[in-house]
Amino acid sequence: MTRGTPRLENLPTSDAQLSIMKSNVRDTAADRPGVYRMLSSDGEIVYVGKSKRVRSRLLSYFRCAYPEEKGARILRSAEAIEWDYTPSEFAALLQELRMIKRFRPRYNVAMKRDGRNYAFIKLTKAPAPKLIVVRGPTGEDADIYYGPFVGAQRVDGALRELNDALMLRDCRADLKMFFSDQTELFQLARTPGCIRHEIGKCLGPCVGGCSESQYSERVALARAFLDGSDDGPINMLRTQMERLSAELQFERAAVYRDKLERLEALRAQFGRLRFAVENLSFVYTVPGHEGEDKVYLIRRGVVRAELSKPKSSRDRRTMKQLVDDIFAQPVSVTAQVPTHEIDELLLLSSWFRRFPNEMKRTRQVS
Ligand code: SF4
Repeated sequence: MTRGTPRLENLPTSDAQLSIMKSNVRDTAADRPGVYRMLSSDGEIVYVGKSKRVRSRLLSYFRCAYPEEKGARILRSAEAIEWDYTPSEFAALLQELRMIKRFRPRYNVAMKRDGRNYAFIKLTKAPAPKLIVVRGPTGEDADIYYGPFVGAQRVDGALRELNDALMLRDCRADLKMFFSDQTELFQLARTPGCIRHEIGKCLGPCVGGCSESQYSERVALARAFLDGSDDGPINMLRTQMERLSAELQFERAAVYRDKLERLEALRAQFGRLRFAVENLSFVYTVPGHEGEDKVYLIRRGVVRAELSKPKSSRDRRTMKQLVDDIFAQPVSVTAQVPTHEIDELLLLSSWFRRFPNEMKRTRQVS
């Protein structure tokens, strides 16, 4: 059900319009879960919010005492408020997220949630991709994300060491690269490089220190390492170390031994920091307003299907088929997370962290 405020056409938000909006909320909104939208005079959705009690939440905007308060600023940009009721707070949360992704309202974007507990490792695109720690999706869909990991700072430290061990770059994303197999090497004079190349912690793709394919090999090793799918980086270092030992180059072999030990420790560390996405896979039944109960089929932290709680044996058969279809699909062992799933994964993990008792409503699928 959608309810709205009558609009005064072509007028800026004024006290008179605010008064109309407030009366409309007071007279028609109900105290039940839902999602609301603030719309500007030209119909742009400037803000999307959700609440367990829509009426109380909306009325609280009109009580903002100072013009610089978030609520007052949003309200002064809006000429109308619309809202939809949802069966539960959880349903409101999901709908809010989907609307924010769809409409990207300016106040939601400006006030983007920070302080999240989780971090991701993002692999940027070529040339010379680099790994960075981020709190959520940034940039384009084509970027690759690993995670989530718990504790951004610790992940940052571990990633620095992974970069050093595999000699990957960690400098400005827009720094011009000059691979050794590029023809215009005369341009090297324009790139200063940095100390990391000199001390053997970066292959130096900016100063012709490696070819593009040599650098790509290291990136592939980093990806395999972060995926946890194979021991590529560790095996590579071990092979190098053994070859140098056989050639009696003990000093250089010792450097590889240290890197190897560090990488093995990092593997264990990334394992501890990694949030077990697979734990967020179950059937979750949520009681709804006036019996509007919903069932969510959640796999790897993302709602794959939602349906009304079955009331007949036919409904139950339909649900069982859906459960079979969704949970029977083979699980990828990769730690890579599709960009478009990150926000929902963060939302679900934060929901079950805030309300651990909700786990009692879940049922594992065997
Ligand atoms: S050596 Fe060049 S590519 Fe490597 S980190 Fe330093 S500036 Fe970046």
